[in-house]
Amino acid sequence: MQLLLMGPPGAGKGTQSAELIKKFSIPQISTGDMFRAAVKEGTELGKKAKACMDKGELVPDEVTIGIVRERLAKDDCKNGFILDGFPRTVEQADALKKILDDLGIKLTRVLNIHVPAENLIERAVGRRICKNCGATYHVKFNPPKTENKCDNCGGELYQRGDDNAKTMKTRLSTYENSTRPLIEYYKKVGIYTEVDGGQPITKVTEDLVNVLSSAAD
Ligand code: ADP
Ligand code: AMP
Repeated sequence: MQLLLMGPPGAGKGTQSAELIKKFSIPQISTGDMFRAAVKEGTELGKKAKACMDKGELVPDEVTIGIVRERLAKDDCKNGFILDGFPRTVEQADALKKILDDLGIKLTRVLNIHVPAENLIERAVGRRICKNCGATYHVKFNPPKTENKCDNCGGELYQRGDDNAKTMKTRLSTYENSTRPLIEYYKKVGIYTEVDGGQPITKVTEDLVNVLSSAAD
């Protein structure tokens, strides 16, 4: 199953990917996570990505497409994958089609998590991530049992540098200008489904799983 999880920043893509990868035993491919790992390692890629990420702008297409092409060629993607946060531009979507054509596979479904824009800043600003295992929490909507400690592994939680109101405003306008057009793009391909991401986390997961179970493809 080759899935693409779409939605604006803070919609719940990472949260839902974490559930879907357990259920379907396929890897999550998050370009945001890949860039953050590169920043942490201090690689050339990390240096290029950091400047854009700090401003809430997109990392250039040629850089982003290159890392996805390499990642999708790996063995663990043979039985499927969940793309989270890629593509974010029409150019990236066209490149993805070419990469998948070359691998002889197709996207099974594009799932768009719809959340009203007015809720997204609160979601991002309250997001906390485990330094150790990457699990995602929210101070209000999905708090850990013990403050600042991961329920899964006891790791310390941190707040992403770009999860502040100022950068989120740029990220949201970047989404509107560059990424929203992909909704029409994938509607035309005929594999697009929208789910209501304004519901509690477990209900969103249920809806996503139902779409995937009932999809004829
Ligand atoms: P994305 O990967 O789309 O940027 P995340 O999955 O990291 O979004 O979610 C952003 C924040 O919103 C996190 O703090 C997460 O715990 C919280 N969140 C995710 N889904 C929901 C939901 N359905 N209701 C309320 N908060 C949510
Ligand atoms: P995310 O973790 O998905 O919220 O992404 C964090 C940041 O990484 C974004 O604001 C961008 O700067 C960068 N990024 C992630 N995915 C992409 C992508 N597909 N194209 C360009 N930039 C990206």
